[in-house]
Amino acid sequence: MHNSQYYIDLESAYGAHNYHPIPVVISRASGVEMWDVEGKRYVDFLSGYSAVNQGHCHPRIIKALTDQAAALTLTSRAFYNDRLGEYERFITQLLGYDKLLPMNTGAEAVETGIKLARRWAYDVKGIEENKARIIVCSENFHGRTSTIISFSTDPSSHKRFGPFMPGFDVIPYNDLEALRLALENKDVAGFLVEPIQGEAGIVMPDKGYLFQAKAMCEAANVLFIADEIQTGLCRTGKMLCCDHENVKPDILLLGKALSGGTLPVSAVLSRDEVMLTIKPGEHGSTFGGSPLASIVATESLKVLVDENMAENAIRMGELLRDGLATIQSPLISEIRGMGLMNAIVINHQNPDAAWLICETFMKNGLLAKPTHGDKIRLAPPLVINAAQVEEAIAIIDKSLKECIV
Ligand code: PLP
Repeated sequence: MHNSQYYIDLESAYGAHNYHPIPVVISRASGVEMWDVEGKRYVDFLSGYSAVNQGHCHPRIIKALTDQAAALTLTSRAFYNDRLGEYERFITQLLGYDKLLPMNTGAEAVETGIKLARRWAYDVKGIEENKARIIVCSENFHGRTSTIISFSTDPSSHKRFGPFMPGFDVIPYNDLEALRLALENKDVAGFLVEPIQGEAGIVMPDKGYLFQAKAMCEAANVLFIADEIQTGLCRTGKMLCCDHENVKPDILLLGKALSGGTLPVSAVLSRDEVMLTIKPGEHGSTFGGSPLASIVATESLKVLVDENMAENAIRMGELLRDGLATIQSPLISEIRGMGLMNAIVINHQNPDAAWLICETFMKNGLLAKPTHGDKIRLAPPLVINAAQVEEAIAIIDKSLKECIV
């Protein structure tokens, strides 16, 4: 076995430089814990950007994955398979939708949501072809494809990647008046929104925002499209973040934890009126809806329900925020979050402060990553227990005292 530096150098030499990882090389993980190639243990406070809600290598998910992998992995949608229909029935009944459109990555789910909204606009709402518009929010993060970055307000996502896809209206997040004005345009097909903005640094809208926004969309005959790729699947203490306000999105986008961190599996859910506007051959993906993905997604959802992970996210989230609130450090300007989707906002002039703090966390056995410069997301797997939360709080406290920024 080589040391960490060997693997870091290897990636630097042969891989594209489109990421800047924390300098740790992981070779094994279980539940909330990870081990590097030197055998050092860490508590994971990133969960693969919330893809590993069920904990690393959850035994039930790994068993479902390996059993199915030995029998049948892929048919493509050229043929039927004996797993997809069962999965479609399970997820639609669980979440209360008519139909599922299975995809792979989160970005593909978002692309699918956009295509569905546009098609619905022309076929059902009666908007003139090529005129449909979609309202989005500033500071959004919905993925990395060229359509999605066309409506990103983050220069690092879109700068020098133009020309851009037209048809999007950007309004401020958490601003109902701006939404009301944007909805006056009769060509609006959909409103695409993150219930909590994750990559922006766990930005939470005011209570009632989602409920009001949904009501306004309904009144304007506009589809409410919820990107729950990061907030969904028990992360915030409910199956969906929209459930906190009893909002049912017209189009629901899921990804990440839908496979418990094993495969890229995403999902688009909607009612027939929307979903059946897309006909055979008009959209799809080679891997979407594979028997392997179908089994893994079904088991990943069952694990979330059977192990009461939403409830644990609420309890452990409260414990975490209460513990963080007792830390005396001039580096903390705010602690915020819901369930186990939390962030510390760092108070320091040095733009590298959050990065340096995360490196100190790493040294002390906790893995987290800054987002948007001054925020550190704290989002452990939802299987975390009280002792592990206490351990993490102690590491964070110690690190903030030690770190020289
Ligand atoms: N939407 C949200 C809210 C996300 O947080 C992400 C990824 O971080 C995506 C979409 C894109 O998902 P993927 O990286 O699987 O394409």
